[in-house]
Amino acid sequence: MLHKNRLFTPGPTPLLPAAQTAMASYTAHHRTADFKALFQRVLGDMKDFVGTKNDVLVLACSGTGVMEASISNLTSPGDTVVVLTAGKFGERWTGLAKAFGCNVVVVEAPYGQTFSLDQVRARIDGKVRAVFVQATESSTGARHDIEGIAKVVRAQGDEALLVVDAITGLGTTHLDVDGWGVDFIIGGSQKALMMPPGLGYCAVSERAWKRMEKTTSPRYYFDLRKERKSAAKGETAYTPATSLFAALGAALEFVRGMGKGDLAKGREELVNNAELCAAMTRAGAKALGLNLFASSPAAALTAICAPEGVDSSKMVKDFRESFDAVVANGQGEMKGQLFRIAHIGYYDYLDTIGILAALEHVLARVTEKPVEYGAAVRAAQEVYARTQSEKRQLVSA
Ligand SMILES: *Cc1c(COP(=O)(O)O)cnc(C)c1O
Repeated sequence: MLHKNRLFTPGPTPLLPAAQTAMASYTAHHRTADFKALFQRVLGDMKDFVGTKNDVLVLACSGTGVMEASISNLTSPGDTVVVLTAGKFGERWTGLAKAFGCNVVVVEAPYGQTFSLDQVRARIDGKVRAVFVQATESSTGARHDIEGIAKVVRAQGDEALLVVDAITGLGTTHLDVDGWGVDFIIGGSQKALMMPPGLGYCAVSERAWKRMEKTTSPRYYFDLRKERKSAAKGETAYTPATSLFAALGAALEFVRGMGKGDLAKGREELVNNAELCAAMTRAGAKALGLNLFASSPAAALTAICAPEGVDSSKMVKDFRESFDAVVANGQGEMKGQLFRIAHIGYYDYLDTIGILAALEHVLARVTEKPVEYGAAVRAAQEVYARTQSEKRQLVSA
């Protein structure tokens, strides 16, 4: 059969065609009125996409660049910080904080799980300067309770800043950034924004801006105070990734369209879309007798355990060879144990049904056991139908 290449990886994700054409045709120089207008519109719209009144900055780097910026701007060497980790991206926080000389207190949960709030509370006292966590841990498919964690951190007053890597959380998870008191939240262009890699972004609270005036870690390109000053004049400190800004403008218009002209509502719709794709996928996997890897699964992606005695690498390879569908293997020690299907950004009903139908074939081949064709698809259709009828009832009520 003919093959179409489709990404089901938790970044990069499928590209929005309008974003691709916007970037392909964009040529404006960055110190012109044309770019300035685009830049200012995008920065304003990004507040609605993130769901915050705080300043949003968009930088030319991958998501990890903004993670590093949060450490270098918000900490000084010797600061005590807490890292909440339950996966490969949590471990990245530990590595970054240590690289900048922080005294790191690690609160850990096993891969696939999340920490209890008591565990978090026990490690946060008046000496802690910042707390770092993921909203959704893309290596395991787990969702962390950011609202609960924020309550614990804010109960300590203004001393500890809360920094959230929401690189796969934004656009897939309902987050009340300002209401919960998140000080620094991070996203990346190659996730729910449906565009290529290359932009990292963050929203920064007043508390965090104040902290930056006193911290002493070295920073230059990622000196966020400089970016804030430039942004106030409609400029970036250095050459921006102009064509990616054009793509971002188009992606934000698409999300606004999902909200029928209201971007904040469009963001909610995008999150609901991910929630529905994820619920369909979970139901499909379970109908095939497969186990989910995460105890509190995120809507960003679904991590599914390979069946007993099967190496998930074989499944990942078969998805690719038979259907040109790229699903993600487990990372690090989890390689071979699980595979990951993303729901971040530009996925719809047909993508979701399609990958589940493909999973039925892949499973039949790797286990060499009969599979009841249609079982995963039917379970997913039932979830979809139930959601649609609940929506109709809500509208008519
Ligand atoms: C993708 C991702 C990152 C950032 O990765 P980059 O390759 O630097 O863009 C960080 N955290 C999480 C949770 C991610 O999913």
